[in-house]
Order: sequence, then C-alpha cells, then structure tokens
Amino acid sequence: MKILISNALIIPMTKEGLSLRGDIGIDGKHIVFVGTGDPSFKADRIIDGSSFLAMPSLINAHTHVSMGLMRNYKDSLPTLQAWLAEIFPIEGKLTTDDVLAASRLGIIELIQSGCTMFTDMYFEPQATAQAVIEGGIRGSIGVTLFGDLEENKARVEEREKLLAPYVAQAEGRLTLNVAPHAIYTCTQETYQYAASWARQHGRVFHTHLSETKKEVDDCIAQTGMTPPAYLAKIGVLQDVKSILAHCVHLSNEDIDLLKSFDTTIVHNPSSNLKLSSGIAPIASYLHAGIPVALGTDGASSNNNLNMFEEMHIASLLGRVVDTESEKLTPYQVLEMATKGGAEAMGVEDRIGTLEAGKEADLLLIDLKKSHLTPLNDPFSALVYAAQSADIDTVFCQGTILMEQHKVQTLNEHTVMDEVQERWADVLRR
Ligand SMILES: [Zn+2]
Repeated sequence: MKILISNALIIPMTKEGLSLRGDIGIDGKHIVFVGTGDPSFKADRIIDGSSFLAMPSLINAHTHVSMGLMRNYKDSLPTLQAWLAEIFPIEGKLTTDDVLAASRLGIIELIQSGCTMFTDMYFEPQATAQAVIEGGIRGSIGVTLFGDLEENKARVEEREKLLAPYVAQAEGRLTLNVAPHAIYTCTQETYQYAASWARQHGRVFHTHLSETKKEVDDCIAQTGMTPPAYLAKIGVLQDVKSILAHCVHLSNEDIDLLKSFDTTIVHNPSSNLKLSSGIAPIASYLHAGIPVALGTDGASSNNNLNMFEEMHIASLLGRVVDTESEKLTPYQVLEMATKGGAEAMGVEDRIGTLEAGKEADLLLIDLKKSHLTPLNDPFSALVYAAQSADIDTVFCQGTILMEQHKVQTLNEHTVMDEVQERWADVLRR
C-alpha cells in the first residue's frame, strides 16, 4: 500500500524549529519522502493534508499500561507509600485475563492520544504483549521483578518463553526489557542479575529511581548512599542502556554520576504531582547533558495515559521550577516525547522523527480548531494549546491505527464493557 499525505504542515523533529509545508510518501512500513514529493510515486491512496499538522507519533517511555483498572481508586492518600499499600493487595488478585482486558483499554487510550510506542512494567506481560499485537502499536514490555534473586531468575526464564511467540509475531514492534521495580522492593542481587541479563541480551534496563524524598532518605540511612550512587556502587548502571523513571530528587553529585552512564531519565510529571512526590527539575538535567524522555506512569497514578496532557504539564512545570536560563522550551518537550523516547529505547534508527527511510509512525492533527487559531508558532501550539482530541489519524509502521478519531484495530466499546465487568469482579474477590 502506497499512501501520499499531500500539502500538510510537517514537523519532522529533525532540527530545532524546523517546520515545512509539503508531502509525505509512505510505501508499506516506511516513509519514502518528506517535504518535496516524488513525481514517480504512484499512491494507492491520497490523504489531503492541507488542514493537518503531521508529526512523529509519541513515545510513552514509562507506564504500567494495564493499571487503568485501578483508575480513580484510592486517590486521596498522602504519599506514594500509602497508595502502594492499597494497590499491591488489589494487584495480588488480578488474573491474566484482567491484565489482557486492561491492556487493550490502555492501548486504545494510547492510540487516541497519539502514542504508538510504550515502555511497560507490569505483571502478566504476555497479556500486554497480546494486546500490543491486537492494537498494532509498539511495546517494550518489561519483565518486572520484585523480591530476591532466586524467584526472579525463574520469573525471567518463564516470561522469556511466554513472550517469545508474541515477539516473533509482532514484525519488530515488540521487544522485552528487564524491569526491577524499585530499590525498596528488590534486593541488591536482583538488581545485579537484571543488569547482567540486560547486558547479555542487549536489552534495556528499566527501573523506578529517586521518585520520593523518602526513598532517597531511606537509601542513605541503609547504605550511606543516594539511590543512583547505590546502583553505581553495586555495578548496575555500568555498560547497560538504562531508563530511570522519575528521578525527582537528585543531588548535584547524582547528576554528575548519571552523566557518565548510558542513562535516560523519564519524566512523569502528572504522577509526581498526584502522589505528592515533587517536581523534577528537568531543564537542569537536560542542561547537564542527561537525556530525558517523557512518560505517563500508570493510569492509576495519573489518572490517564494522555501524552498530550503530559507534554502540557511538563511544559508548564518547566517554566517555574528551573533557573531563568534553564527553562524548558516547547521544542525540548516535543523532543522528549518523540525522538527522546526512541533514543531511550534504542530504536532511533527506526522511529522518533519523520525522515525518508524511517518507519511510518506519525500523527495527523486537525488544525481547524478554535484553540489552534491563529496557529502562530506550531511548537508552542502543540504543547500549550493542542488537545489529544485534535488527533485525526495515527499511523504505526505504515498502518492506520486511528482515522477520523476512530480506533481501527480494537473495539473501544467492547473493551470498555469488559473492563467494567472485570473491575467489578476484582472488587468482589
Ligand atoms: Zn511507574
């Protein structure tokens, strides 16, 4: 299938401030041109892009996609620890089919808000992998670890086997990562094993780190070190591609230390605000040279998976918490949500920007909206004014996952009904 998107306002995210009006050619899974059309390109379908803005689709670099089940549940607790104490017993009751239904729901929500790749950390990852295949998006599915070494070794071996058929089926859209939950739920040996597994298999190592002041204070009390210093001391961050979710509370020494590793910080501003964890000084991290990507965290601490909303909140917070010379710009936030996520996951050669040769993961945003008129600066418009409901069409790997606001791959109403029924059943268990 050859698709031509004609005369769109294009933001390729290849160069700061670059926007152009032109055509995008898609042949099968790949983009074949951006900007100037190719007269020899014979399209099977032409989409009139004259009222659309085309941009790379978004990458949610840290989430728990199936936690939508616990959305708007036990919300008014004072801290992360108090909230986890309510959530962990519920999670103990969830079945594979609960996670499958909730993953489908989460993937619909991701597509509707312009996201075509997510990095996940949760139980029953084979159910989430199945939903990725059904939804047609990309997932980096975490084999999630809690506790001590022996149970986790067995868990990783079992999950690898369970996930292998899905990886084989997904045409490059599904990968595994290893995801020890946090330093307060996993032993030192579990962390060391996870890092060595990631090194051995060339996979990403994914964990929560320095999310709350309590986590940092407890770590210092127990080890004499901050969480990043502790992970470095036990040999976990060396020679591995790591993504560290949150990093709300880093010292200057932590920032210097993290710069020396192949590490990306994932900013989750909604979750950090809602759980009263704090505000991560993201512009300072970028200024120091640490890559940053963007995530929603799970929908029970957010309470949605809307990356447009996350960009908006990140942009606003980035104006008030940093020094005058270190304020986040709209382009930086868009980079965090697109190529920054691709680089964090090691897939920047395939997605994250609109360029000939890359796979066609892109959004068409309807600019004929009162809140986008006049458009003036399109980068400002995207982070400060645009709504996810402005997204008309979503492509992933050249396939249309949503068109005219309707998800094509999963039935939204059927999935919502199933999730409602399953959640009511979970509460009865
Ligand atoms: Zn999380």
